[in-house]
Amino acid sequence: MAKLKIVKVGDPILRKVCRPVECITPRIITLLDDMIETMHAADGVGLAASQVGILRRVVVIEVEPGNTIELINPKIIAFSGEQEEEEGCLSIPGKWGITHRPMHVTVRATDRHGETFDISGSGLLARAFCHEIDHLDGKLYTDRVIDKK
Ligand code: ZN
Repeated sequence: MAKLKIVKVGDPILRKVCRPVECITPRIITLLDDMIETMHAADGVGLAASQVGILRRVVVIEVEPGNTIELINPKIIAFSGEQEEEEGCLSIPGKWGITHRPMHVTVRATDRHGETFDISGSGLLARAFCHEIDHLDGKLYTDRVIDKK
């Protein structure tokens, strides 16, 4: 595994739309492993591939320590409720802002073995799903901030 460099806000790569993963190659597996290591080293709860300069639809999330969620081609298939909480981003160090997000989110994604699965989360995990999937579409939480800190 290798720690990757995290792209910071202002870099145009963060505004690009990531391409779907069509085939889970050894490069995609290595990317997942490297993204997990990078997220851990940065003390983050989530990381999208565009944040390490790779324009593919790959996300890692770890809201509960030790429970790493790997998402390939994730899509939000259901959401409900709402929450307004503070959000930050490893690509925008030292800043936080309040965003409006659904309270409960269900995501459909592919795992590293090529299996499709659904996963649901509430609260922080729901925010992480929305935040990271936004990255895959070139969106940043700052686009959604309702109260800057
Ligand atoms: Zn982010």
